[in-house]
Amino acid sequence: MIRSTVAHVDLAAVQSNFLAIAEFLKTASMIGVPQSGGAPPQPPGVIAVVKANAYGHGAPRVALALQEAGATMLACADIEEAIALRSAGVTEEILVFGALGVSDLAGVFEYKLTPTISTPSAGRALNAAAQARNTRLRCHLKIDTGMNRLGLRYDNLARTLPELLDSPNLELAGVYTHFATANDPEHALFAEQRERFDYVLNTLLPSGFNLRPGLRHAANSAAMLRDARVWFDLVRPGLLLYGVVPPPLHTTLPLRPVMSLTSRLVSVKGVRPGEVVGYGALWKATQPSRIATVPAGYADGLDMRLAGSGHVLVRGRRAPIIGSVSMDMITVDITGLPADTGDEVVILGEQEGERLDVREMAAAIGTSPYEILCRIGTRIERIYD
Ligand SMILES: *Cc1c(COP(=O)(O)O)cnc(C)c1O
Repeated sequence: MIRSTVAHVDLAAVQSNFLAIAEFLKTASMIGVPQSGGAPPQPPGVIAVVKANAYGHGAPRVALALQEAGATMLACADIEEAIALRSAGVTEEILVFGALGVSDLAGVFEYKLTPTISTPSAGRALNAAAQARNTRLRCHLKIDTGMNRLGLRYDNLARTLPELLDSPNLELAGVYTHFATANDPEHALFAEQRERFDYVLNTLLPSGFNLRPGLRHAANSAAMLRDARVWFDLVRPGLLLYGVVPPPLHTTLPLRPVMSLTSRLVSVKGVRPGEVVGYGALWKATQPSRIATVPAGYADGLDMRLAGSGHVLVRGRRAPIIGSVSMDMITVDITGLPADTGDEVVILGEQEGERLDVREMAAAIGTSPYEILCRIGTRIERIYD
């Protein structure tokens, strides 16, 4: 290993988080949590979301761990990601969330992927491609219930559905929607979307169409935690699998953080009062200080706003990130700490009982834990343990 900054990915924690979710779904289903849409009494299956390189953790290894743990299906953003999963040895069904380009169509068949149909024209293109290959393509239908991003508008289905349902080479195996405000208990849109999806399921879809008994799904991590009425046949957690609860929600689920990011102090020096540190001379010592350099910067995904707001752990204590975040390094104030060159630094994770988690880092700079995880750079080696 040449670089000292590495990401440790705990695959046992991924599996343990998956099992904690599965156990939660099972227990809550058994005590008869009311479900809408005439959901069957058995607990929902789990679509494990591994898009964006498994939220930065490394999709091939994480996907295999989740497949082994019992995920019903895996999901990713586009065909390229799905092909990477197949190449890694994933044999489970792979649902592709994103909109397909024309050039993607061959990959769907070659790699046996389950695409999402979000527009009538995508349905037409997939039907034609399946027809040309003399096959029937399994796909899921996405309904837009108010997020206004992807999907067939819920209030326009009477016009858009018939052609899709009449497509002889499409097997509409599932139908789903996605919530815009599941992590915001105050927002009314969540309930509106749930009611619109219920309406679609109960009123529009069953009337003679070939969808039943199709798979119905709606819940990301936040929705899954908040409301069992949106569990349906499958849930789609992403963030929770990585041991992070979507803010501002909390849970009693026994989740373990999967990612930790560690490095080493590569230089320590004394700075006199009045001297400055780093680009822009943004930090000025007010007392005799000890400043250490850590070889991880914004090219590794460390946000520039961490300077002045974030911390790292050194010798089990919080050391503030000061000055400015450079491309390849940060500087931290270790005044008063018995630390020296070569000492371990924890950027995310635990050290001597102290912990810095992704939520805390995100909150410190006003972003989301999703962004923090996904931005951890490609030049950082992922070590699986
Ligand atoms: C990313 C994504 C998820 C998972 O979201 P989390 O908040 O990480 O649980 C579920 N469904 C869709 C359609 C997604 O794009």
